[in-house]
Amino acid sequence: MVREIYKNHYPKPHMPCVEPGKILKGQKALVTGANSGIGKAVALGLAKAGASVAINYVVDDGTVDRMIKEIKSHGSDAIGIKADVSKEDEVKAMYETMLKAFGTIDILVNNAGIQRDAPLDQMTLAQWEAVIGVNLTGQFLCAREAVKEFKRRGVVPEVSCAAGKIICMSSVHEVIPWAGHVNYASSKGGVMLLMKSIAQEVAPFRIRVNSIGPGAIKTPINHSAWATPEAEKELLTLIPYQRVGEPEDIARVAVWLASDYADYVTGTTIFADGGMTLYPGFATGG
Ligand code: NAD
Repeated sequence: MVREIYKNHYPKPHMPCVEPGKILKGQKALVTGANSGIGKAVALGLAKAGASVAINYVVDDGTVDRMIKEIKSHGSDAIGIKADVSKEDEVKAMYETMLKAFGTIDILVNNAGIQRDAPLDQMTLAQWEAVIGVNLTGQFLCAREAVKEFKRRGVVPEVSCAAGKIICMSSVHEVIPWAGHVNYASSKGGVMLLMKSIAQEVAPFRIRVNSIGPGAIKTPINHSAWATPEAEKELLTLIPYQRVGEPEDIARVAVWLASDYADYVTGTTIFADGGMTLYPGFATGG
């Protein structure tokens, strides 16, 4: 039935018609956990590409206002929305605010994430539940509300040839086991099949769902892993490309995935990891 709707209406990717650098012109994006690290770079990247951006945050030190000013200086619109993505009522209220301000949503970047590390035998239920709550349940709640709006509105060909795009911030730890971080690795493994199952379900509605699997990116979440030369040297043994990633490395992938350049891409994880998932130990051994 859904295929019938689009049978005679498959708009072509419209990027040749848009100003270079404005490939997301007219699109409305929500980025969760957007006032720090990867989320901040993604929000600014989407805005520079022409999207209006809702900046979700839980705790703010003034960053959100500075981001709004910067985004407006690039000619895009921006608002900040406080909400804990692990709480259903707060996610629903966030979408109400977003839809009231921007009228709709075209792009969701499910980015918010936390770590609460401990060896398994010392990990508390609270540490387990906090990480699953934000990293997995939060992605489910935000994706569900986005899909409701994508289905309601459908394709608007002059905006994008898809009815909506979801980008889940996963991790190399959706495939690499991580001792001492079983809650985090379980949440990201869960995100992989959450993403793929939603992608399969909503593809006939012309909604694309993908993940980005960052490797080691310099943000507050993993500060101790790269903050000293010794730590960075140790980290580089895991990265064949021999540099630690920057948030902008992930932002560029997000902008592309959100754009019509990626119109035939759905249900996949793009690892942006300098080769961390290439089993670097086997480069000289095995
Ligand atoms: P970060 O700590 O800088 O950013 C995390 C953001 O999530 C912050 O803005 C934080 O306030 C927000 N957040 C936390 N709990 C929230 C909640 N309940 N509701 C809404 N927002 C909440 O870390 P980051 O590295 O930028 O992480 C962003 C995403 O990238 C996470 O999903 C993380 O798992 C993933 N990731 C990061 C790396 C890396 O090396 N930095 C690698 C792989 C994956």
